[in-house]
Amino acid sequence: MYKIDKILIGTHNKGKFKEISDLLPAKIYKISPNSLNIESPDETGKTFAANSLLKAKYFNEKSKLITLSDDSGLEVECLNNQPGIYSARWAKDFGSFDKAMTEILKKVKKANKGTKARFISSLTIYWGNKKFITEVGKIEGNISEKKGLNGFGYDPIFVPNGYSKTFAEMDYKKKLLIDHRYIAYKKLEGKIKNYI
Ligand code: IMP
Repeated sequence: MYKIDKILIGTHNKGKFKEISDLLPAKIYKISPNSLNIESPDETGKTFAANSLLKAKYFNEKSKLITLSDDSGLEVECLNNQPGIYSARWAKDFGSFDKAMTEILKKVKKANKGTKARFISSLTIYWGNKKFITEVGKIEGNISEKKGLNGFGYDPIFVPNGYSKTFAEMDYKKKLLIDHRYIAYKKLEGKIKNYI
């Protein structure tokens, strides 16, 4: 059976690129869409799974490389699971992740219905010729005041269940090995272990 020796990690998000690179075996050469001048597609899917498939297929067709893409985001229960698939868009619309986090904290306080939240990641590996595998990982937790300087995106306002620190207060390695992308990756790894 052939082994994957190089892979396109289909994202322009630096935080995600690093996490996905660090989850994959070191011997696989990782390529970014940036280095091939490939822009991101419009995310028109209605679910994380649909968007990760759409991205993986798009980057595969542009690059002809086996591609691994993630679609992820933060669901806040008292906000009807928003921002969800619009997590990146909220940061853009409010002007920055910091402003989007301030907005989430305000809305959560106003709703007064608890702080339950989850991060979700859908990972799709796409080989071409409609051959792909998609897996989803979730981590449950709570919204907290902004704390910590590590990580990226919404990390400063999320405390996973069983921990007292936000993702942004945790060491990079700690978060890497418990988060939603890790959970999705472990499911995927089980299915692609003969190729990596
Ligand atoms: P998309 O998958 O490109 O639509 O972007 C998802 C957005 O959710 C990103 O811009 C991130 O900021 C946010 N997000 C996804 N995973 C994480 C994470 O592990 N920590 C913090 N924010 C995340």
